Amino acid sequence: MQVWKFGGTSVGKPERMKSIRNLVTADAGKKVVVLSALSGSTNALLSIGESLMRANKEEATLKIDELLAHYEQFVHALFASEEGLKSGKTIVANEFNFIRSLANLNHYNQKHDKQMVAQGEIMSTQLFTAYMKEQGESVALISALDFMRIDVDGEPELAVIAEKLKEVVDKQADKQILVTQGFICRNPRNEIDNLKRGGSDYSASLIGGALEAEEIQIWTDIDGMHNNDPRVVKRTFPVRELLFEEAAELAYFGAKILHPSTITPAKLKGVPVRLKNTMDPEAPGTVITSKISNQVEIKAIAAKDNITAIYIHSMRMLNAYGFLRRVFDVFEKHKTPVDMITTSEVSVAMTIDNSERLDAISADLKQFAELEEHDRNQSIICIVGNFLADKAGIAIRILEAVKHIPIRMISYGASEHNISLLVDSKHKNEALEALNENLFDFDQP
Ligand code: ADP
Ligand code: ASP
Ligand code: MG
Repeated sequence: MQVWKFGGTSVGKPERMKSIRNLVTADAGKKVVVLSALSGSTNALLSIGESLMRANKEEATLKIDELLAHYEQFVHALFASEEGLKSGKTIVANEFNFIRSLANLNHYNQKHDKQMVAQGEIMSTQLFTAYMKEQGESVALISALDFMRIDVDGEPELAVIAEKLKEVVDKQADKQILVTQGFICRNPRNEIDNLKRGGSDYSASLIGGALEAEEIQIWTDIDGMHNNDPRVVKRTFPVRELLFEEAAELAYFGAKILHPSTITPAKLKGVPVRLKNTMDPEAPGTVITSKISNQVEIKAIAAKDNITAIYIHSMRMLNAYGFLRRVFDVFEKHKTPVDMITTSEVSVAMTIDNSERLDAISADLKQFAELEEHDRNQSIICIVGNFLADKAGIAIRILEAVKHIPIRMISYGASEHNISLLVDSKHKNEALEALNENLFDFDQP
């Protein structure tokens, strides 16, 4: 069994959906096919929800009409037969009736908003399954809402997912292709919820881990993980092989090609993850495993924005017993993960990417420490590779490349795979470009 996930751009046009059928059927093995919403749909649904949150039904209705027109065109171009077209039209009509019923509620709330945004994946998977059936393929739709669960902290419940998924899959043993939704899940209140933006990658990995699949393939619009952010940096190239640890660092620290948590479930079960390009299926892409042949020192760079740096001074001595524990207790209490940390004798600096609870965190820290003003709008630049502890010269190469840019923090030595720098976001693009030009050998990518 393999798990193949197709992102928004890979299903966003009728001809792309048709080519996905060719891809998944060209290869004989059984597959779970995980789909995102058609590109633009999740944003459109969130925008409808946002109008409804402001109780602006008129605006929401206009947006719903516009989205409906898009889906109507889509089904006309997708199906070949009268019967197929009828099934597509029924799917769209039913889901848009539901969307309109949400829009007509008197008190539209967060719970309804989660139902709203789920419609993107619910429609894409129904349409693809109907199209596959029209084409005579052996296919069944399995609902992610029947197996994908998160706990109160929004974390996936691995054991529950594995148990429920196996039940669902066993019932469809005679089918070659099982289609399911990425992104959506149920929470402990049994309500519809989701795995956050870009979460379909995470769904695919959770499913691949739960089924102990042969391989998880993430199909997107680029030929694998590039050595740097192709949206920012001019000259980038695909990295052919990555270790789980390296890919996890890159995803966590901002490589948008993967949801930040994607690698964990695959790594846990040792399932290889392959990144492939729907627009160029022959391209080798990137393979992510626990063992690689290519021992390049510096592999790739990623950057994560919206970081806040917090500077904490001990009123006595930092190394007094228990000071750091008290600091971490505060972050734990507010369920806020810390990304980077550096210490001196009397101070500690740390970064967070979720500043929702920042005021409460600051108030608690002030009970026993002095705080400097926080630095907002910072970016973590994460350089990933094989930085074995006894190797000399890597730090100097990195710092030399960015010597013209003010560096707020440096994190080195915690992992053999990651060196991180904190810079003001206004310097991020320049830093990424400078690192790119200085750290990679473009003659031998
Ligand atoms: P999908 O809709 O298939 O999930 P995404 O837009 O989420 O696709 O992810 C693919 C995009 O990620 C690429 O088009 C690219 O612009 C962006 N990206 C950012 N960093 C990287 C990187 N290091 N390597 C490859 N793509 C990256
Ligand atoms: N459709 C969701 C999003 O746009 C999930 C995904 O595409 O991975 O965030
Ligand atoms: Mg994505």
